[in-house]
Amino acid sequence: QFYASEMNASMEEKLVLLEGMRSALDACNGGPCAGACQFQLLYQPKVDLRSGRLFGVEALIRWNHPEHGQISPLRFIGLAEESGLIVPLGDWVLRTACAQVEAWRAAGLPELAVSVNVSARQFEEKRLVERIAGALRDSGLAPRQLEVEVTESAIMRDLGRAVEKMREIEAMGVALSIDDFGTGYSSLSALKSFPISRLKIDKSFVADLAHCGDDQAIAMAVISLGHKLGLRVIAEGVETEEQRAFLRANDCDEMQGYLYSRPVPPERIAELLAGQAQS
Ligand code: C2E
Ligand code: CA
Ligand code: CA
Ligand code: CA
Repeated sequence: QFYASEMNASMEEKLVLLEGMRSALDACNGGPCAGACQFQLLYQPKVDLRSGRLFGVEALIRWNHPEHGQISPLRFIGLAEESGLIVPLGDWVLRTACAQVEAWRAAGLPELAVSVNVSARQFEEKRLVERIAGALRDSGLAPRQLEVEVTESAIMRDLGRAVEKMREIEAMGVALSIDDFGTGYSSLSALKSFPISRLKIDKSFVADLAHCGDDQAIAMAVISLGHKLGLRVIAEGVETEEQRAFLRANDCDEMQGYLYSRPVPPERIAELLAGQAQS
């Protein structure tokens, strides 16, 4: 009895969240919003480990709910996946991120790349390539400034199709990276056939990097594997100076994490870029 009512409560919570997501998305009209939108993109800087230069950002969604406040994507992306709402939501993310980076360029700031997370269902959806092309066309953003982050598990669901799709994306001039690398199940022979430019070391391997020999071994193996395949390697979730020092010493190319900056609103990125242009 108790169990059943608990389940109903969470089902009800899900339905309420879903309904809220649907109406918030409707208000967005599928494109970058003028202001009233409940969804927002924050941008986390990615920096080059050798030069310290800010070269890109990752777009990370936030939902500012009128009653519940800011809701983490960890709470609603899964639900958006299950319900299929991830497709229009992901489209909004793509369009908003492209428009933002193009706006920075138009304002005369140094060129920056943006990466957008594409979840499994979004990646499988048959019009993904057209959607990316549409976001580029409507924003005027150069394809080389866009990168798509996709997880190994999304790719491995249907490997043949996934590789074909990645080739189409690459042919547009858009870069691809493998997110959360090491947590999924891609085989090394499959990896060889991916038209990608980056591997992203998952933050679960970075967290204890200063103290855990196993995590050090994994990070070093990913870096060397990536380099042997001609890829760049980025570490996510870098929070301490020790982690950064380890990654630098072991030839990792890039990092992102709280040590440099949390995900921030676009105005803050513009300030960082302007500061960098001066120095
Ligand atoms: P992810 O793609 O692996 O993104 C990295 C997460 O780590 C982000 O959480 C980021 O805010 C957080 N992070 C960054 N630096 C640090 C650090 O130094 N320490 C720690 N502990 N965490 C750090 P966030 O923003 O809550 O996003 C969670 C996940 O939700 C993302 O994981 C991604 O899978 C998904 N997500 C976020 N935005 C989108 C989106 O626009 N579309 C899709 N499909 N998924 C998204
Ligand atoms: Ca809009
Ligand atoms: Ca990501
Ligand atoms: Ca991750």
